[in-house]
Amino acid sequence: MKPIQMVDLKGQYQKIKSQVDKSILNVIENTAFINGPEVKEFQKELEKYLNVKHVIPCANGTDALQIAMMALGLEPGDEVITADFTFAATVEVIALLKLTPVLVDVEQDTFNIDIEALKKAITPKTKAIIPVHLFGQCANMEAVLEVAKAHNLFVIEDTAQAIGADYTFADGITKKAGTMGDIGTTSFFPSKNLGCYGDGGAIFTNNDDLAHKLRGIINHGMINKRYYHDIVGVNSRLDSIQAAVLRIKLPHLDTYCSARLKVAEYYNNAFASTDKLITPITSSFTSHVFHQYTLVLNGVDRAALQKHLSDKNIASAIYYPVPLHNQKAYADSRYNEADFTITNELCKTVVSLPIHTEFEEDQLQYITEAVLSFVNS
Ligand SMILES: *Cc1c(COP(=O)(O)O)cnc(C)c1O
Repeated sequence: MKPIQMVDLKGQYQKIKSQVDKSILNVIENTAFINGPEVKEFQKELEKYLNVKHVIPCANGTDALQIAMMALGLEPGDEVITADFTFAATVEVIALLKLTPVLVDVEQDTFNIDIEALKKAITPKTKAIIPVHLFGQCANMEAVLEVAKAHNLFVIEDTAQAIGADYTFADGITKKAGTMGDIGTTSFFPSKNLGCYGDGGAIFTNNDDLAHKLRGIINHGMINKRYYHDIVGVNSRLDSIQAAVLRIKLPHLDTYCSARLKVAEYYNNAFASTDKLITPITSSFTSHVFHQYTLVLNGVDRAALQKHLSDKNIASAIYYPVPLHNQKAYADSRYNEADFTITNELCKTVVSLPIHTEFEEDQLQYITEAVLSFVNS
C-alpha cells in the first residue's frame, strides 16, 4: 500500500489537469494577473452557487475574517465571541484589531459553539458572534441568529471548513453555509474543500452597503473613487491564476462533498463495532461536507494509535491539540477552566483520519483495519 496522506491533491489534479492547465495558461497569455476577468467570473459563479448577493474575493481566509470585522465598524474594546475549539485564525484577527476575544466552550457531539455558553458570555460590550462551522457541518445557526437578534449583535460565519454545506431552518428554508449571518467568510487554502493552488479567500454578504464597504476595504480603503482613501483598508486580492483554478473546481464541489461523505460513511460503518471510537455526529439541521473526519477516542492511547498508523504509512492529525484559551497568545485571567470542560477534553481525545476526494476502497479498508487492530488489541 502506498503511503496515505491526509489529503490527495495530486490525484484530484490529475482528473482535471487538462482544464486547469489550459485555464492557468490562458491567464498567463492574457497577462491580466490582478483583477482579471477570471476573478469577476469566479465571483459571479460563486454568488450563483451560494445563492448570495455578493461575493468579495480576497487573499485568504484570515484576511476575510479581518476585513469582515473592519467593515462592521467595531471599536477597540468591543467584545467578539467565538469558539474555543477551532483554528487560531478567528481569534487572531479579533486580537489584531484590538477587539476583545471572548472564547466559549463547544458542544461535545458536534464540536461547534455551545449556545448556552454563548448566551452566558454576552455582556453590554458584546458586538459580534463568530460561529465557526467546524470540520464541515454548520453550527446551530437558528439559535445563534436568535441570540444575535435579541442582543443586537452582528454574526460573521467562519465557513473556511464548510463551503457547500446546507443549513435547513425550522420553517423548511435551506441556505448555504456562510450566507445566513451578516457576513460569511471562507478560505481557498489548497486542502480546504474548495481549494486553489496557493492562497485565496472570499467574503459573502446579502447586504449591499456592507458589500460596497468590503470592496473598498480590500482595495486600500478606496470606497468610492480611485486614489481617494476614505477609510484605512488593506491590500487583499484573489489573484487571477487562483480564480482560474477555482472556476474549474467549483462545478465539482458538490461531487467532492459527496465523495468525502462516502469516506465518512465507510469509516462510520467500520467503527460502529467498537465503543472505543466515537464517530462524528451530524446535527439534523445541517448537511456535513466532512472537511475533517474526527474521532473522539474513548480510553485509547492517542499517541500510540498515531504511532501505529504512522508505522503503516497512514497519516493522522490532531485538530486541535490546545484550547485557544490556553494558547500563550490568547490566555487571559478572565477565563475559568471550569467553563471549558468540553474543549479541554476534546483537545486530549480527538484524532482526525485522512479524508479526501480520491480514495479507493482498498485504501479505506487498510486504514480502518489498522485503526481497529490497534483499538481491539
Ligand atoms: C483555514 C481556516 C482559516 C484561515 O484560512 P487561510 O486561508 O489559511 O487564512 C480560518 N478559519 C478556519 C476555521 C480555518 O479552517
